[in-house]
Amino acid sequence: MVFEGLAKKLQGALDKLKSKGKLSEKDVDVAMREVKLALLEADVNFRVVKKFVSTVKERSIGQEVMGSLTPAQQVIKIVNEELTNLMGGTESKIEFSSNPPTIIMMCGLQGAGKTTTAGKLGGLLKKKGKFPLLVACDIYRPAAIKQLEVVGSKLEIPVFSMGDKQNPVNIAKAAIEHGKKNGNDVIIIDTAGRLHIDEELMEELENIKQEVNPNEILLVVDAMTGQDAVTVAENFNEKLNVNGVVLTKLDGDARGGAALSIRAVTDKPIKFVGMGEKLDQLETFHPDRMASRILGMGDVLSLIEKAQANFDAEKAMELEKKLRSQEFTFDDYLEQLQQVKSLGSMNEILQMIPGMNSKQLKNLNVDEKEFVRVEAIIQSMTKEERKNPSMIDGSRRKRIARGSGTTIQDVNKMLKQFKETRKMIKKIGDMEKTMKKKGRFS
Ligand code: GDP
Repeated sequence: MVFEGLAKKLQGALDKLKSKGKLSEKDVDVAMREVKLALLEADVNFRVVKKFVSTVKERSIGQEVMGSLTPAQQVIKIVNEELTNLMGGTESKIEFSSNPPTIIMMCGLQGAGKTTTAGKLGGLLKKKGKFPLLVACDIYRPAAIKQLEVVGSKLEIPVFSMGDKQNPVNIAKAAIEHGKKNGNDVIIIDTAGRLHIDEELMEELENIKQEVNPNEILLVVDAMTGQDAVTVAENFNEKLNVNGVVLTKLDGDARGGAALSIRAVTDKPIKFVGMGEKLDQLETFHPDRMASRILGMGDVLSLIEKAQANFDAEKAMELEKKLRSQEFTFDDYLEQLQQVKSLGSMNEILQMIPGMNSKQLKNLNVDEKEFVRVEAIIQSMTKEERKNPSMIDGSRRKRIARGSGTTIQDVNKMLKQFKETRKMIKKIGDMEKTMKKKGRFS
């Protein structure tokens, strides 16, 4: 879970305040000491923590909080606001050129996720109606060009490459000419990285910057490296004056030190975050939503956006019709299941729901394997069985259990659940019909 450790500690510190009716200055002091520790343990930059805590404290012991009826809620609100400010306040968008193509140069150390992110960003912009071109300028890392080509073909985005014998500056220039002719309105340049920052790398990046004059330079850093990511960001920014940061591998970052420090230390915004290895797992970074998530206040907006991006409205209508007319089959069930899964793991989804703090999430302990089991059971059914579940007798159940690597009890349980779902839907449908009738005659 993203920021799991930090979320737990922060929520714990603030929960203690909630149990007190009135707050004294000492209560706030104690809570702030815990907040400070939580942030330091999360590997947030020391100076950033100091300033954060003193701002929150100053605001919290002010007149309006102490005198209010719900002082603890007010303190939590202040922590939320200050966390949001710390991460940049509002969403920071890509600046598109009024005279396309918009040129985006990706840079960062090797392994940070540059190539993957170049592809993911192309995919995100394509979904928004852009026509991107990916450019392979990493001529040093073996297989980097091939990797970008594979990513491009998966996303159906063209990739420009000239092999590994040309100078990256020439490749970038040629790519822009090619893109212009081809009608590409966004050109994303994947540059070379190194294991550590070195002069040669910086010189090459500066040369590319000078020659192609990008609209955006996005620095890709790995969230899991904590303060190292912040140092890398400082160094790159000093040389290249980047426009923003993409923080990758946030899905594996339980601490959050980089996310909470980068903006304050470099004064450059985080524009996107990588939330997994899959090519659709890049999200626009919203500081306010992230702060809410850390404090267990949920992130309904992101959940709705995800659902809208992943769910097909037409299909949803079709499904509703089927549900009402009792034609809902196991194929539809499977499709539903896969759609929900496309939103992320169950724990990821639950994390976005308000009121779900880290403790409750742990207690809930959603069994992801249950989904896999149900999917396997349905996939082991024949086409006929999926359409007509009542034909699934004892021997068929045995075969399905064997085929799906589950037990007959699992299959029975699933069939029962399905039957009950259908029954419930019928009941709701009947109820609606009666209500309508009543409405008409009254
Ligand atoms: P590059 O050397 O900077 O171009 O890095 P790559 O794009 O090759 O990525 C390095 C590794 O990080 C690959 O295995 C990627 O799948 C993985 N990766 C990239 N972004 C993310 C992310 O947001 N989450 C996770 N979990 N893995 C990522």
